[in-house]
Amino acid sequence: MNTVSTQAPDSTRGSVRGTGAGRPVLEIKNLSVDYGYGEDRVHALRNVSLTLREGEVLGLAGESGCGKSTLVYGATRLLPPPGLISSGEVLYYPEDGGEPVDILRQPEDALRASRWQDTAIVFQGAMNSLNPVHRIGRQITDAIAAHRPETTKAERQDRARELLDMVGIDPGRISSFPHQLSGGMRQRVMIAMALALEPRVLIMDEPTTALDVVMQRQIIEQIVDLRQNLGFSVIFITHDVSLLIEIADRIAIMYAGDIVEQGPASRMYRQPRHPYTRGLLNSFPPLRGPRREMTGIPGSPPDLVNLPTGCPYHPRCPYAMPICSEKIPTLIEPTAGGSEPGRLVACWLEEDAEATVPPELAVRA
Ligand code: SF4
Repeated sequence: MNTVSTQAPDSTRGSVRGTGAGRPVLEIKNLSVDYGYGEDRVHALRNVSLTLREGEVLGLAGESGCGKSTLVYGATRLLPPPGLISSGEVLYYPEDGGEPVDILRQPEDALRASRWQDTAIVFQGAMNSLNPVHRIGRQITDAIAAHRPETTKAERQDRARELLDMVGIDPGRISSFPHQLSGGMRQRVMIAMALALEPRVLIMDEPTTALDVVMQRQIIEQIVDLRQNLGFSVIFITHDVSLLIEIADRIAIMYAGDIVEQGPASRMYRQPRHPYTRGLLNSFPPLRGPRREMTGIPGSPPDLVNLPTGCPYHPRCPYAMPICSEKIPTLIEPTAGGSEPGRLVACWLEEDAEATVPPELAVRA
């Protein structure tokens, strides 16, 4: 039997929380995605690079339409038409240390085999994707049977019960239909299905958005516990950056199809360097700590068909300078205030020797 154990992983997995220093498991390099063709083409993602390391939770944040979902669906070749990958590579590093595989150029059958086993996704609104006419147990065992046909029916049933237990659902509910479960329970079933084959990478696209705050918190805590015990890596997508501060090791902030800042979560909270990151942080109440005034971000995200020249954030940025509307800043390691390992920022405030970082962008208490 090809077992699908839930025992704690070996020491090479899940041992790098907070350090960002583990081996890469997924490396996105210069990924560009367009929607549409010819003159109507929209550049939805522009040369985005990002690395997910073993055992870490990487948070991806930004307003709706900034490219978060496009990035992960492009990287996993799940982009629906008219999405088109125009350049880049996505390297998956095998657990045995072998040569990385470029997912974008992987043959279809190999890609299909690797789904769920290497990389699994919990889609946005996933709880509504359960088949209403099948019992949840059958839906989980079908997923296992498709990838592990050598397992027996009894083994698959046992595994389904084990998975339900892992995500906090009474295994006795294995015969329930989806309509007999609450929204939170259905979402947990989807997480159980995603974990069925012990993937090394779990991608979660706004997994708790449709749930109330109490249920959101319970599910987030469950994901963090499961990650700790099973050692998989997580890409967690949300527009709620305060939530990411709680659960992520590193955070990447996206704006208008590009990453504008990335770094360790604690540093991003204490010292958001990009004005957009700061705007996002001031748009959501912190889950812990003292209350602060929410100010939000003025204006709306840009129309990707008609991007502003220079830094796409300049029409909304309170610190915009003349250069900001002329040239696009690139991601650089900031040097002002000492070096910050793993921190990258795309803002002229970091590059222009003449410009000074405004005091309100300085370190928080
Ligand atoms: Fe603001 Fe200029 Fe920095 Fe863009 S480059 S975020 S407009 S200061």
